[in-house]
Amino acid sequence: MELRQLRLSGFKSFVEPATLRIEPGLTGVVGPNGCGKSNLLEAIRWVMGETSPKSLRSGGMEDVIFAGTATRPPRDFAEVVLSGSGAGGEELEVVRRIERGAGSAYRVNGRDVRARDVALTFADAATGAHSPALVSQGRIAQVIAAKPEERRMMLEEAAGIAGLHVRRRDAEGKLRQTEANLARLEDLMAGMGSQIAALRRQAKQAERYRALSDELRGAEARLVFARWRDAASAAEAARAAAALAEEEVRAAQAAAADAQASQRRASSSTAATMPARTAIAWRLSRRSSRRQNSGLPISSVNAPGWKKIAAKLTG
Ligand code: ATP
Repeated sequence: MELRQLRLSGFKSFVEPATLRIEPGLTGVVGPNGCGKSNLLEAIRWVMGETSPKSLRSGGMEDVIFAGTATRPPRDFAEVVLSGSGAGGEELEVVRRIERGAGSAYRVNGRDVRARDVALTFADAATGAHSPALVSQGRIAQVIAAKPEERRMMLEEAAGIAGLHVRRRDAEGKLRQTEANLARLEDLMAGMGSQIAALRRQAKQAERYRALSDELRGAEARLVFARWRDAASAAEAARAAAALAEEEVRAAQAAAADAQASQRRASSSTAATMPARTAIAWRLSRRSSRRQNSGLPISSVNAPGWKKIAAKLTG
């Protein structure tokens, strides 16, 4: 990787857009106190994906935005663009921008990417925000006094295997996540096993219920048919009995009519053979008895007309 240019806008003391050309052979920046040497180095580390505000001498990440002076108002955003060529010689332009209240966003060659992608791009090229290749003020003494572990990190960085370490950490994280997912899946499958057994039981019961329902429907249909058949034959028998009864009624009516006719004939012949008075008395007594049988009051038998007739008979 070759870094060729650094552009800053609104980053710390670089309120106006400023460009630092990193020409071949440039190994350090010197200048008077407070001129912004450290800010430049911090801008390089920031655009490479630095996540610790403390290592940028800030309380929070938004503190890297120009905070304003007595004569200039503060800015709302800061942007740093680092351009050069990648590990394979291709053009590379990395942009990091921060806005107040909105956080940081990264772009690599005009494409929005995650902070991790940017860190990996630089780690693959054996550099990055924590690369020992970027030496800030007072760091030389730190390197000399570094512990063996820290020195090992520097050597690994210089050997270009830092990217592999990042990838290994990523892979280990993914492996842990996958293992946790697998454990969850096993739990889920165990739970589903018992659910499957319960569902199988329910399915069997449903099957049995359906078969029994079919059987029940068939039995009910047969029962209804048998009842209908019994009712139909009972109705047929009742019809035949009614016809017979009607026949008997007709025969009885005819016999009654014959009997009445012969009775009328007999009574008219009885009256004809009696003397006149006896016949009238006989008729009256018959009429009276008919009246009594019909439920009329006896007094009506003694009505004036009958009294006259009776007087005639006796006188
Ligand atoms: P030294 O050699 O003393 O360490 P330096 O050259 O490294 O100085 P820097 O520390 O990079 O200089 O810059 C310090 C200047 O940057 C100070 O003047 C400080 O006021 C200014 N500065 C830092 N942060 C901001 C900010 N967020 N907004 C405005 N100015 C800032």
